[in-house]
Amino acid sequence: MILDGKKIAAEIRGEIREQVEALKAAGKRVPKLAIVIVGHNPASETYVNNKLKACAEVGIEAEKIAYPEEITEQTLLAEVHRLNNDPSIDGFIVQLPLPSHITETTILSAIDYRKDVDGLTPENVGRTVQGLPSIVSATPRGIRELLARYDIATEGKHVVVIGRSNIVGKPMAILLMQRPYLSLPGMSAASLGDATVTICHSKTQDLKSICLTADIIIVAAGCPGLLTAEMVREGATVIDVGINRVDDANAPRGYRLVGDVDFEHVSQKAAYISPVPGGVGPMTIVSLLQNTLQAYKCKV
Ligand code: NAD
Repeated sequence: MILDGKKIAAEIRGEIREQVEALKAAGKRVPKLAIVIVGHNPASETYVNNKLKACAEVGIEAEKIAYPEEITEQTLLAEVHRLNNDPSIDGFIVQLPLPSHITETTILSAIDYRKDVDGLTPENVGRTVQGLPSIVSATPRGIRELLARYDIATEGKHVVVIGRSNIVGKPMAILLMQRPYLSLPGMSAASLGDATVTICHSKTQDLKSICLTADIIIVAAGCPGLLTAEMVREGATVIDVGINRVDDANAPRGYRLVGDVDFEHVSQKAAYISPVPGGVGPMTIVSLLQNTLQAYKCKV
């Protein structure tokens, strides 16, 4: 069965829209998100435009703040402090990657964790690890929601997470191993968490044997075709996070997007599988909206 992230994300946008309408009807202001983008990375510009579009669709106010590639770290830090202190902004993100002369951790660490709707500040990550109320990184939050909406419980299951990045692999593993009662407010009720988690990465030996013991495999490596059918147990659930551009002369833009999974063959063995595009991507964007609403609610 295909895990239709596009459809589920549309459903959740509908739910958020209703909540925003209710705020308006009650005479309250609507939530506001700011997105800071530096330079002209085409992929980043596409992601930011999609986020702005999603905000508009649900009635969340959004502001794009663009800076040239040459901006200094100091100026960007000053912008972060300004946004931290602007009461009209409920949450903001600094779109990654940043140019190499700016240290990402310096910028992310300066964001007030209550406005950190990307869930990337050390404070939010630490709070998530300790099971305290926190804002969770959008992609893991979206994957957890996708599993929940398809009633795929993780309790007692062996989940293999491929990738150990701060934005996907690590927070995903933490969420999955947590006791469910520590889950975020507003999440669906399916029994998520309580999994036995194995984290794999580029130095992992014999990835195939490890994957063959998995009930659920979450792949976030950025390697097209990494997960093949021989690595997947019959009836497993496969979540493909990867977004890779591969050349395709027949595609209108000269490339197409593929994930990290050999979808054609793995889909014949998996009980559930998320496609690329249309799986995790839309869930990530809708999770940013959920995080913005969460930040707004905690503030008012
Ligand atoms: P990253 O480059 O920071 O991390 C990749 C991880 O994969 C690393 O920890 C590395 O050790 C591991 N890895 C690389 N090659 C491997 C291999 N052959 N075997 C096992 N592990 C391997 O990437 P990231 O930011 O976590 O993103 C991963 C992928 O997910 C990228 O394709 C990215 O574009 C995509 N992504 C998608 C979304 C979405 O919304 N769908 C969101 C974030 C990232």
